[in-house]
Amino acid sequence: MKKVRIELQGISKSYYSETAVTQALRKVSLSFAMGEFVAITGESGSGKSTLLNIIGGMDSFDEGEMIVDGEPTFQYDDEDWETYRRTKIGYVFQDYSLIGHYTALDNVASALLIMGQDPEEARKTAADYLRQVGLEEYGAHRASELSSGQKQRLSIARALAKDTGIIVADEPTGNLDSETGQQIIRLLQELSKNRLVIMVTHNYDQAEAYVTRKIRLHDGQIISDVKAEDDGAVQEPAPDTSGLAEEPCAPAGDTAAGKKTVKKPLTSNQAASIFARWNQRTQKGRAILFTSFLLVIAAASFLFIGELFVYRDDTTTKNYTQAGFYHEDNTRIVVKRQDGKDITDEDVKKLSSVRYVETVDSCDIANDINYYIEEGKDYEYAFGNEAKRSRYGKGAGEGEIKRVSFLNEKRFMMSTDAISEADLAYGRLPQARNEIVLYASDDSLLEKTMPCYFVFHNVWAENHYYQTNVTVTGILRESSGQVYFSRELCRMLSMNLTDNSVFRIVYDDRIRHEITPVISDSLTGNEVRLSSTMAEEYLLGGEFPCTMEEYDLAGKPTGKVVTDTVYIKDPHSADGQHNSTPNLLEVSAEFYNQHYRLTSSQASVYISSYAKTDQVLKKLERLGYEGMSSYRISTIDYNEERTTQRLTIIGICALGLVILLLAEVLILRSLMKIRIKDYFVMKFIGMKMQVIRRISYFEMLAYTAVSIVITITLMWVLRLCGIPVIQEMMWYYEISSYLLFILYNILLTLLTVFFFNRLLKGRLNA
Ligand code: ADP
Ligand code: MG
Repeated sequence: MKKVRIELQGISKSYYSETAVTQALRKVSLSFAMGEFVAITGESGSGKSTLLNIIGGMDSFDEGEMIVDGEPTFQYDDEDWETYRRTKIGYVFQDYSLIGHYTALDNVASALLIMGQDPEEARKTAADYLRQVGLEEYGAHRASELSSGQKQRLSIARALAKDTGIIVADEPTGNLDSETGQQIIRLLQELSKNRLVIMVTHNYDQAEAYVTRKIRLHDGQIISDVKAEDDGAVQEPAPDTSGLAEEPCAPAGDTAAGKKTVKKPLTSNQAASIFARWNQRTQKGRAILFTSFLLVIAAASFLFIGELFVYRDDTTTKNYTQAGFYHEDNTRIVVKRQDGKDITDEDVKKLSSVRYVETVDSCDIANDINYYIEEGKDYEYAFGNEAKRSRYGKGAGEGEIKRVSFLNEKRFMMSTDAISEADLAYGRLPQARNEIVLYASDDSLLEKTMPCYFVFHNVWAENHYYQTNVTVTGILRESSGQVYFSRELCRMLSMNLTDNSVFRIVYDDRIRHEITPVISDSLTGNEVRLSSTMAEEYLLGGEFPCTMEEYDLAGKPTGKVVTDTVYIKDPHSADGQHNSTPNLLEVSAEFYNQHYRLTSSQASVYISSYAKTDQVLKKLERLGYEGMSSYRISTIDYNEERTTQRLTIIGICALGLVILLLAEVLILRSLMKIRIKDYFVMKFIGMKMQVIRRISYFEMLAYTAVSIVITITLMWVLRLCGIPVIQEMMWYYEISSYLLFILYNILLTLLTVFFFNRLLKGRLNA
């Protein structure tokens, strides 16, 4: 007596829709045994598929009981049904339910993977099953490229591979021509010898010769259940097996069990990652589409997050006042030694080596002095007749005085600290005070001497300037608008006094202006020369003895008298140099070196971006320096317009990130829906829901990782190519911003997959 495998007891099933209730099965009781080949027939809508789906564990029932191998199923939960589908049933569908983009071999192997075999072994075993159904030559073909008959044979091979005792087949020949249909039925018949095969067909004639039992349904009820009396005709060898395998249907146990090893079955994660990889490999177009979509999201979010970091810094919304630093440059940090000593060459080297420091200039104050060197571009002359009204008659022209207007206020002195011999294409670095280096396309400017004007807006009086002739000794290699001056000139104009004091010229008991000395090579000894605007008539016309007394910064005389006699020379420079600044006093080099130092106790460093200010300040402190951002101490009140702009940009970026989130969840989820059929197939061949859910996580996270890597690479390339917006933004990209960017993109993907899985679960359980 054959062992009863499946028993149905009074099974009823109804479908409920909004408008109607359809009773698909009414109190069906049946039992099936091993070795049976059962055909279920009946007109369309009679409940055949419903019955088969209940047997296959794909559908639930309302009433009755199903007993499997003697065990009732009423207490089965979702997981038990998963196990049931995976271990007890092999499925063959009318529409084949293959994963079209997988190869024939992988379709079979996927069933084996689901059964817990490792991928390599699964492939080997799968090849055996392909041979059993005569598809050994088609292993590498995509399932979607096979003919209908081949597809159905493949789906049978997949059902076989599961090595279950029961195969259910719903209209397996429904889409096949009768010749191919016959072959399939013969194949199923062969298989039924050591299995239970239950087949739904509405074309009973085709199956009649092969089946051992015929069940007819009508309106959800069994109206006949007949066993074939004469087995003789059925058992006789099939006349034409050319489409079949050479050695049809070795008992499944022989092949599968023989190859089964005691290896640990795959974990859900392993299985999911294998399927994810197969999906990527077999659907390149889809992989590219998803990656491109994620790439757009990643790139946009990179920009939004970057801008958020740029605008997080609220000092960008402050107004700049030029009282402290005339040179408006937010990358400038003013540096002093913590011990207050002068900046040495050693210091310059040390400062240069600090990360993000691009340029160091030991003469900080000179960096706020404007220079004007090119006639017509930087400055122009106007000649007026003020000379006639002037208290002294000698002007630059014939009875006229030269007035200079300065045009370009954006050029500030830099000393040659900032460059080295290697930056020069021609010539040499300055040695003497009045030598300079600048950029020109050729060396024709070398050794040229030209006038240069200096204006020090926040120290010297308005419209006053200092002028001297400078000589070009070197030509820079790289194009630059910057002129580099000798350190001596920079320091001289920065007026570094020995002991924080000032000198005043006292003549005839009158206190003259506080003065700042500049060296004039045409003077010697105690000779000085006043500026033309400072000079008064009684001080002109020769050499007048007067004293020079020292005062401290509070304005009190220190009692120190420098010299009893200072000879005031004609204010009009004999060497063509012109001093138009009342605060400046030309002295001889000798005098200067005696009372002043050509040193600097304050340097400027220029960093790559304002974004790195805090980092550099911290580093400077550790190195023994005191630093301050010239920008921060020059900005006071908020600029309303810029504040609004900043908040608007922050708002737009935040909104952008939200929109990207919605776009990804909605659009990507819809794109994923296109492949929902694959998951049905996987469910029916017994994949655990847990694995199904994880496949999408693995697959999408892989695409996300690729898009993240591409985005970061792309941004770095754009930065190195010198795209200004990207460059500026990238300075604000720190570890935390990269982390935020990566987390944001991963989160988006996780959310997308989460919502997709929810939708998928609903569909699969429907
Ligand atoms: P058969 O396979 O014999 O053609 P089915 O078992 O598919 O018939 O269907 C039996 C009855 O149940 C039919 O009236 C059909 O319309 C109905 N039915 C089947 N599936 C559903 C469903 N998911 N929702 C509503 N009604 C259904
Ligand atoms: Mg049907």
